[in-house]
Amino acid sequence: MRSLPELKKLPFKDYTIFDFQKIIDAKNGWVGLMASRGCPFACSYCFNHQVVKHYRRDLKCSFKELNYIRHFSVPQILDEIQYLLRNYRNIKMFIFDDDLFTFYKDYVKEFCRRYPQVSSLPFVVNAHVGFFDEDRARYLANANCQIVKFGVESGSHRIRQQIMRRHMTNEKIMAAIRTAKQFGLHTSVFLMIGLPDETREDVLATVQLMSQAQPGRYRWSFFYPFPDTEAYAIADKRGYIDPAKMQNLKNFTASSGLDFGAEHNLFLQKVGKIMPWLVNAYSDLEVADFYRRKVEEILALDEPAWKQLAPKIYAEDQRISENFVRQGLRHYAIKYNPFMGVISDYFTTET
Ligand code: SF4
Repeated sequence: MRSLPELKKLPFKDYTIFDFQKIIDAKNGWVGLMASRGCPFACSYCFNHQVVKHYRRDLKCSFKELNYIRHFSVPQILDEIQYLLRNYRNIKMFIFDDDLFTFYKDYVKEFCRRYPQVSSLPFVVNAHVGFFDEDRARYLANANCQIVKFGVESGSHRIRQQIMRRHMTNEKIMAAIRTAKQFGLHTSVFLMIGLPDETREDVLATVQLMSQAQPGRYRWSFFYPFPDTEAYAIADKRGYIDPAKMQNLKNFTASSGLDFGAEHNLFLQKVGKIMPWLVNAYSDLEVADFYRRKVEEILALDEPAWKQLAPKIYAEDQRISENFVRQGLRHYAIKYNPFMGVISDYFTTET
């Protein structure tokens, strides 16, 4: 049998069924699916608005005529799930990677009514705070949806409106997370830092929103200006894009390709490493004072001192977290990858 590193070098079509079963085993049995394609929004940093523009230009039609949000019928997607369950071993969870699974309430209702007839496995969906309510939460929870993911990106209303073109309020974000939690759904939030024109206060507004809403987890990255997006044009026009940093960027979860000046660059590097500590520090959790002292010390460090400390943060986080778990104190810790904060209620009950 071929090893996983060998398999990863192969084009997908060269996998055998047997090899694919091996990959499912190696990835903990998570299987990605898409029940739909398309998104009705036009966030400035996402490729979506450009795809829509090209389709509309080529097909010479309005957005409505485009029929851009396309769904498999519920029987079709259930057939696909049954096929996977019949043909592959060790599937433990389905991850629906649709841009916006919860767009049509009737679709969510019908899918969730029929899904338990073909599978008892948990599943994960992407939602949008504007397309999420008690009905959708109830349908999903009753069908064994385990995690609902929301794109929030920034806690600063100004940055969401003016830079990201994400039209939602903090109240709406908090309400969606509250509703999901009310129905027992674990919530996951996407965040970004290092956006054009973002100040220290804007970054801290993102931290504070997480401290107040307290989702099950949040995953953060640095804003990346994808060429041809509106956000790229904003970043370029304002002179934030640093060609040398962009050239050397390995991934946008570890660092930024933008230059905000030495002081803000250093601040962002620190936030990118200690986001859960900041969220704990601003929260009403019992551990807040402890984390407040830690983040005050870290935010006061100069660059050489930070460079010495930064590689030790992850191990320090795990040590602190284990200590608080022993004491039964709720907190966020860095879990599963270096850019995800997860609430201890969740990771302490994992089997
Ligand atoms: S909601 Fe998500 S998929 Fe839709 S445009 Fe915004 S970032 Fe892209």
